[in-house]
Amino acid sequence: MFFASDNACPVHPKVMQALNAANSGYAPSYGNDEIMDRVRAQIRDIFEAPEAAVYLVATGTAANVLSLACLAQPWSAIYSHQIAHIEMDEAGAPEFYTHGAKLKLVAGADAKMTPATLRAALGTTDHGTVHSIQNGALSITNVTELGTVYSVAEITALAAIAKEAGMGVHLDGARFANALVALGCSAAEMTWKAGVDVVSFGGTKNGLMGVEAVVIFDPKLAWEFELRRKRGAHLFSKHRYLSAQMEAYLSDGLWLELARHSNGMAAVLAEAISALPGGSLAHPVQANMVFANWPASGHLAARAAGAQFYPWPHTESPEGKAPDTPVCARLVTSWSTTMADLDAFLELAAH
Ligand SMILES: *Cc1c(COP(=O)(O)O)cnc(C)c1O
Repeated sequence: MFFASDNACPVHPKVMQALNAANSGYAPSYGNDEIMDRVRAQIRDIFEAPEAAVYLVATGTAANVLSLACLAQPWSAIYSHQIAHIEMDEAGAPEFYTHGAKLKLVAGADAKMTPATLRAALGTTDHGTVHSIQNGALSITNVTELGTVYSVAEITALAAIAKEAGMGVHLDGARFANALVALGCSAAEMTWKAGVDVVSFGGTKNGLMGVEAVVIFDPKLAWEFELRRKRGAHLFSKHRYLSAQMEAYLSDGLWLELARHSNGMAAVLAEAISALPGGSLAHPVQANMVFANWPASGHLAARAAGAQFYPWPHTESPEGKAPDTPVCARLVTSWSTTMADLDAFLELAAH
């Protein structure tokens, strides 16, 4: 009953097999391995982007901040949602790697910016004078930090505003596959066709040991990215082990199959918690994260039996509350969540 995060799930056996298979003989280092040639082709094919530059790094933070550094100048602003991972969970890495670009935070329900809230944030910048911060980039997260999913139309509308303001668009896709299967569209439709310039394409939260791809649709940014990755100490020498993970992930649709499973488990969980007396959803459940309220007694019973999950927000707690008081928590499912995990958890939550 581990619902704390999807990065706590094991590595998928097919990925371990691929690592084992890659572990023989010698291979060129630093991304010059043959497996990486195949990964590049797979990703260009998936994104219908034959010119795209494709790189691998080991953390989502590296993927995000190296990408943003290619889009934003030190004297520019990166617009993101108020609770974006780059704002809340990256310890100032965006500012560090961009050499000082400023995050400007955009409001919006369910962790989603809207055209109105983005325009409002843009309006607070005094454009065109030497005294003010300049427009740098827009960063959108899909799946969002609250488990909701931007539609293609919503991404298109936000990207159009960014373009109008002279900004490039970054997509934080730590849960890219979960968003894609939720939308049922193509990777191209969710990204470059909607106006996205650079994608952090996650793998770690969906069954890899630790690999994220960066997909850059404008090949002119590629060399700068390569230099920043090296200078930022994120160029792996034994790169074949990153490549092997990503190749297994993308082969035979494994990445989509795992995300479909994960999203399906969250849907089951959401429906069952909503049906509990005192149960309700705090945000729409559209991918593999459930933000839900259920009685404090059910939280305590689940916790006592060893279930792992975070109260939401972090300051929330079932301790000292009347047993039937609804308390909110975040529950994240993964490729390895089973129906038996859900049944065991739901029985406890009903206490
Ligand atoms: C997990 C996550 C990341 C990546 O985090 P790392 O710990 O650096 O791998 C980035 N963005 C979002 C929205 C995430 O949930």
